[in-house]
Amino acid sequence: MFSAGFLRFGLPVAALVAAASGTLSAQEWKSGIEWQEPALVTPGTTDDAPPSDAIVLFDGTNLDAWHNGEKWKIQDGVAIPQETAITSKQSFGDMQLHLEWSAPTEIRGEGQGRGNSGCYLMGLYEVQVLDSFENPTYFDGQAGSIYKQTPPLANAMRKPGEWNYYDIIFNAPRFRSNGDVVKPGYVTLIQNGVLMLNHFELEGPTSFVDAPHYKPHAETGPISLQFHGDAVKFRNIWVREIKPPTGRRVSAPFNLEQKKKEEPKQEEKTETTAEEKK
Ligand code: MG
Repeated sequence: MFSAGFLRFGLPVAALVAAASGTLSAQEWKSGIEWQEPALVTPGTTDDAPPSDAIVLFDGTNLDAWHNGEKWKIQDGVAIPQETAITSKQSFGDMQLHLEWSAPTEIRGEGQGRGNSGCYLMGLYEVQVLDSFENPTYFDGQAGSIYKQTPPLANAMRKPGEWNYYDIIFNAPRFRSNGDVVKPGYVTLIQNGVLMLNHFELEGPTSFVDAPHYKPHAETGPISLQFHGDAVKFRNIWVREIKPPTGRRVSAPFNLEQKKKEEPKQEEKTETTAEEKK
């Protein structure tokens, strides 16, 4: 049993009372940064619907947001590759990209020849789209791979004809003016709620014939969807540009208690601020 002065975790009741009353807040660590309020974003009505700040690239009606979009077939609200790749008219750098795709219901071909398309980030880095449902191929070429750079962490395919969801977090590479890589690109991919790529460090653009190596390019680039001869279906494609949090350093990091000792005048100021908040 516990004595009257202690609760279950051994903390003196007096300490808990002090914490609750704010006495311990003097020990609080502060970053010294004044952060801007995070943007208000209204989520979609479902988790796959575009949030209020999303740029919608395909909502089932037309492919006007894409170069060559008129060449693809739109049927029953889905887009089906024909003839050539399509490339977004708008360019993006760091982004959150949502797209949904379905492998053809009619199974034709095998390996890389079955339900093949792809999503090229910046038009260069391919996140593979492939019917990987009971369809063996090389692992760094199956659905969710960065083609010929890494296999995905899982095979999370739904059956042909069912819809797969890709949620991609992309950090674009950065280059110095002399072409050196300051920071490589990174891709995180979740397919159907399953983590497929965990902040994977891109080695360079996707190539079928060459080892990947970076060539400097702009900070933004278009999204491209591959035409590989297969009737893969796409729907519900939207992007959110990633903007890092912003803040202003107003002081070095500090501990409230230390600061009180070092700067007695600040104590009054802190109390005033606390008063103002009431
Ligand atoms: Mg492909």
